[in-house]
Amino acid sequence: MKIQDTLTERKLDFVPPTRPVRLYVCGITPYDTTHLGHARTYVFFDVVRRYLRFKGHQVQYVQNITDIDDPLFERARSLGTSYHSLAQTYIRQYDQDMSALNVLPADDYPRVSASIPEIARMVQLLLERDHAYVRDGRVYFRVASFPGYGNLSHLAPVEMIELGREHGEDPDDPRKENRLDFILWKPSRPDEPSWPSPWGPGRPGWHIECSTFALEHLGNPVDIHGGGDDLIYPHHENEIAQSESVTGATPFARYWMHVGMVRLGGEKMSKSLGNMVFVRDLLGSFTADALRLYVLSHPYRAAMDYEDRALDEWSAVAQRLDQAATEEEIGHPRAEVDRWTTEFMRAMDDDFDIRSAIAALLGLADLQRSSDTALRGAAARELRRLSEVLGLSLG
Ligand SMILES: [Zn+2]
Repeated sequence: MKIQDTLTERKLDFVPPTRPVRLYVCGITPYDTTHLGHARTYVFFDVVRRYLRFKGHQVQYVQNITDIDDPLFERARSLGTSYHSLAQTYIRQYDQDMSALNVLPADDYPRVSASIPEIARMVQLLLERDHAYVRDGRVYFRVASFPGYGNLSHLAPVEMIELGREHGEDPDDPRKENRLDFILWKPSRPDEPSWPSPWGPGRPGWHIECSTFALEHLGNPVDIHGGGDDLIYPHHENEIAQSESVTGATPFARYWMHVGMVRLGGEKMSKSLGNMVFVRDLLGSFTADALRLYVLSHPYRAAMDYEDRALDEWSAVAQRLDQAATEEEIGHPRAEVDRWTTEFMRAMDDDFDIRSAIAALLGLADLQRSSDTALRGAAARELRRLSEVLGLSLG
C-alpha cells in the first residue's frame, strides 16, 4: 500500500508496524453543526481505518475534541450561553451525524477540558528543555530551537507569518522572541474557563493538545496522522515542533495525510464565511451511501466544489449498487469476480484511489446481468464485502 505523505511530498510504501496501527486525526471544535467539509474528512479517515482492518491490521484511532478554544467562546458569548453547554450540544450533534453517515466511532475522543494536567505537563517539559519561554503569564514555543520548522508546510518564514496571522496567531506580539513563536499557555478572559498553572492562571493554546493526546493516547511515533489540509500550517507544523522537541525523536508521525477542502461558490466551506451545507440537511434528501460515494469519489487531496446535481448522480449509483448486492444465491469464487476484487485492492493500495475502487464495485454490479445465477450470487456477496470497506450499507 502506498500513501502520499505531505511531509516528504512523496508516495511512500506503507510499512505496517508490528503493533496496532496508530491513527490520529484532528477532530472538531464543537461550536456549530457538522458541514460537508467535516463529513468529507471524517468519512475519508473512516475508510482508511476500515481498509487497514480489511487488510488484517489492528487500528488504534484517536480523534481529539477541541472544547477549549476561541471560536467556541466567541460563539457562546454571542448566543449568551455557556461554552460548556454549547460544546455538549454540538458534540452530541456531531456523534449523531457521524453515526448517520455510518462512520465508526474512534477508540478515544480526548477533550481539552478533561486533560489540563497532561497538557500542562507537556508545556513544563518544553520549558525544561529550553524549547519554550515564559512572558507575562504566557508560555511561547521557541521556534528557533527547532531547526525543522517549516518542513511540513514547505513554506518560507514570511509565508508562515502571514498564514499564521489568518489563523489567529499574533506575529506582532512584542513579547515574542521570534514572530513565528506560538502560544502554549495564556491567561483566560474573565468569562473564559481558567486553570491554575506555574506560569499563572489560564488555559492552553490550540496546538499543544494534539501533541499531548497523540503521545499520551497512542505513543511515539504515530503511524498515520491526518486532518483537513487547512491544518497543515500552523497546526500540524506546530504539532511536529512540540512533539519532537518533547520526545527528542524523529519522526513524530510516519505518514501525514491531508484531505482537501469542500468549496461552495468557489470558497472553502466554513463557519466564518457562512457558506455551509449541513450533513443533517443533506441526509433529509439523500442516503448516507449516496453522500459517502459523493465525497469519496473525489481524489482526497484535491479541493472539491459542492454541487447538488452531483449528489443526484451519486444517488443513482448508490441505488444501482444496492440492487446488485441483493442477490442471495450463494456462489463460489469465480475469476470474473476475483478480477474486480484485485482491481478494488489495487486502487485502494494506490494512495486510496477510491474513485477507481468504486468503478470496481460497479464492475461487480454489472455481473448481475449474467444469466448464470451462481456467478450473480458470488458477485453480490463480494460486492457486499468490499462495499463495507467504503462504509456502504448495501443489500
Ligand atoms: Zn490537532
